[in-house]
Amino acid sequence: MTGKPIGPIPPEFAAAGALHLGGQTADALVEAHGSPLFVYDRGVMAARITRFRQAFAGIDLHYAIKANPNAALLGWMAERVDGFDTASAGEIQFATEAAAHPRSSVRDISIAGPGKSDDELVEARRRGVTVNVESIGEAARIDRLSRDGDGPFRVAVRVNPDFELRGSGMRMGGGARPFGVDVDQVPVVLNMLQRQQVRGFHIYAGSQSLDAEAIIDAQRRTIDLAARLSDAAGIAPELVNLGGGFGVPYFAGDTPLDIDAVGAGLAASLAQRPAVLADTRFAIELGRWLVAEAGVYLTRVLDRKTSHGELFLVTDGGLHHQLAASGNFGTVVRRNYPIAVAARIGAAPDEVATVVGRLCTPLDRLGDRIALPRAEVGDVIAIFLAGAYGRSASPAAFLGHPAAAEVLVG
Ligand SMILES: *Cc1c(COP(=O)(O)O)cnc(C)c1O
Repeated sequence: MTGKPIGPIPPEFAAAGALHLGGQTADALVEAHGSPLFVYDRGVMAARITRFRQAFAGIDLHYAIKANPNAALLGWMAERVDGFDTASAGEIQFATEAAAHPRSSVRDISIAGPGKSDDELVEARRRGVTVNVESIGEAARIDRLSRDGDGPFRVAVRVNPDFELRGSGMRMGGGARPFGVDVDQVPVVLNMLQRQQVRGFHIYAGSQSLDAEAIIDAQRRTIDLAARLSDAAGIAPELVNLGGGFGVPYFAGDTPLDIDAVGAGLAASLAQRPAVLADTRFAIELGRWLVAEAGVYLTRVLDRKTSHGELFLVTDGGLHHQLAASGNFGTVVRRNYPIAVAARIGAAPDEVATVVGRLCTPLDRLGDRIALPRAEVGDVIAIFLAGAYGRSASPAAFLGHPAAAEVLVG
């Protein structure tokens, strides 16, 4: 019984037997909340945060909300991280609501993105949100808007670094990009921001890297670049956001990032940092590394059918909820996410099945020719790594099926 390879089931969910999430079985959760269902396990997120704190003492931890903007998750996160990074006025609203809670530990909220409207910029100022300035044009608009009598903006210059995060799944820096200000344009932009409260720099080199050496190298270069730009401008930045890029193992052969090694590498780089950064605070912003493995997408089998000798398990879910598992969210070659019959984790396979959603498109393939224990109609299929870029990064309106429910457990 050999199917195509699948990614590794996160260790917290890999125990043989019925899949348990926060002490409840997947079947019981679907019974209680409906199918399809996104389940987010607080215990898994808490474990990631604890590991970060151990590896990165003294470094601020920011959560990049676009990975998962679920309100209950944000409220939970607000009590555990130092900052929220947003990418729209909508996310600013989510972030400020979550951060307003009395037990919130969030001190910094920032907004990044290549196209911020005037309304978004003014909203950021009103809420005390730091604007990561991404172009000469944006700096000019901020300068104009700041002459309205309502005071300066809190800003940081988002720099398009002159290097990239090696081996990263999604390149965000190095070369021509819509994101950030090219290094040679930074002096001009800082000059245009003289009326604003300039807090420092935001330098983001890439995403989804599992290579500790590559991240250590990018962080070292980021510190050097921030120091060079600060010296040239004659400013001592209060805050340097080092970006993130920590990846998670999605596919067969992926191994977890060694974040203790990254933490040790960063500590070594910071110990040698230039004098201009002596009093600077440093932040790392993470999305998927904090939440991806905590999420599981549960969907019930609606039909079993055979076509030309191939078995299809047709589920009540699909790419309108979990686009990434179908391979249509930023991957070049489609590979299988970790996937299992929820009641029988670790059971010996009986058959090779292709797990599809209910949408009328051949793209709606959640698992391609996977060796699974036999699943009957009504059984729950679990698709892992659904905590980041899942529900909010999928085309929910496509075909008009209902949205998936979400629940936090643990
Ligand atoms: C998307 C994004 C992140 C989060 O990326 P992950 O890969 O989910 O950690 C962080 N910072 C910026 C600027 C982003 O655009």
